[in-house]
Amino acid sequence: MLSLRSLAKTYPNGVEALGALNLDILAGEIVAVIGGSGCGKSTLLRLISGLESATRGQVKIHGEQVMAPHPLINLIFQEPRLLPWLTVEQNICFGIRHLDRLEQGRRLRAVLQQVQLQSYEKRLPKELSGGQAQRVAIARALITQPEVLLLDEPFSALDAMTRASLQDHLLEIWRDAGPTIVIVTHDIEEAAALAHRVVVMQPSPGRILEEIDMDLPLPRH
Ligand code: ADP
Ligand code: ADP
Repeated sequence: MLSLRSLAKTYPNGVEALGALNLDILAGEIVAVIGGSGCGKSTLLRLISGLESATRGQVKIHGEQVMAPHPLINLIFQEPRLLPWLTVEQNICFGIRHLDRLEQGRRLRAVLQQVQLQSYEKRLPKELSGGQAQRVAIARALITQPEVLLLDEPFSALDAMTRASLQDHLLEIWRDAGPTIVIVTHDIEEAAALAHRVVVMQPSPGRILEEIDMDLPLPRH
């Protein structure tokens, strides 16, 4: 469903963040991308999401080139990046403001249940723990019903207990809705626990060193 062909990115300062990278990702697959700092992992996610444009090469979803932020692709960062003056509910619904209220309410209840934050709707971000705030960020992504979830070290700012519980949440979401997931992590255990395939990257220029298939069945929907 996602196909990256000869994907390359050189920043204006001359840094070759990605060489010519090729990668194919199946629908419903969970791919973990690991590698040291500066090997182009974040750049890769920004290119897939359409937030950043490639210097050369292509990203295609269902055979169509991704040229700008794509409605079926959603990126989650290490920090939740919630709007501090909006409640949990308003933050989550921000991207679906154009839908009618009934539909917004229906989706809101569903995603709050998925991230186990029922009864937190009226809270402000400053009244949440780090793990709760990150669950709100995940709910805000899920409510747009993306086919592809990109996560850039989503749990690395959290303590080990919270991290483990959010990994479980992510797997449950995946079992429910089966999105394709690309998760950048520097935690090898996290990669092994979550992914069907682990992609190991190397810097200067960023490229794939190795792909490791894990022994996990794909979802059947
Ligand atoms: P990673 O996520 O693996 O740490 P990044 O994709 O953030 O790697 O960065 C890859 C390389 O590109 C690094 O050398 C980094 O300094 C550089 N880089 C990243 N973003 C920019 C940018 N906006 N402008 C210039 N250089 C950048
Ligand atoms: P991550 O840890 O997720 O790789 P970074 O801390 O490398 O993220 O980058 C955070 C932000 O800073 C990104 O938006 C990236 O584009 C930008 N950035 C990273 N490296 C550079 C750089 N050398 N020059 C300019 N911007 C950079």
